[in-house]
Amino acid sequence: MFKNHCIFCNEIVRNRKASVIYESDKVLAFMDNAPVEPGHALVIPKEHYENILDIDYETYLEVHRVTKALSPPIIRAVSAEGINIGQNNGACANQKVFHYHVHIIPRFPDRELKWGRRIALDHELDRVAARIREEIQNHDGDIPVLK
Ligand SMILES: [Zn+2]
Repeated sequence: MFKNHCIFCNEIVRNRKASVIYESDKVLAFMDNAPVEPGHALVIPKEHYENILDIDYETYLEVHRVTKALSPPIIRAVSAEGINIGQNNGACANQKVFHYHVHIIPRFPDRELKWGRRIALDHELDRVAARIREEIQNHDGDIPVLK
């Protein structure tokens, strides 16, 4: 399903206004345009689901399989030492975009553990996305056929 008023359906899935790092039939991963840390990526289903209550199991598992698969190349690309996986459901849980998404947030030992965000410049996002795609190519091969 596609939702006209959904920013992810419209701007990401349809118009690709994002630095995409990975794509399969069901899933799209791209750089968050307001990263908590460099390398902050989002994994979304291409179909519209609002949250964990309406996403079907198959799609949910594929989104999270890709989340796990992308974590090592993201860590390597930005030389992170840790990673947060975050997923919010409902306005009171701090969900801002009502299209199911998982945050992958690299973490660094010498930095305060904050959730503050700033809008990044497109060329910064493109540069990090290119590094991540390179790491996927160099080390992980074809991510969709994980064993
Ligand atoms: Zn949507």
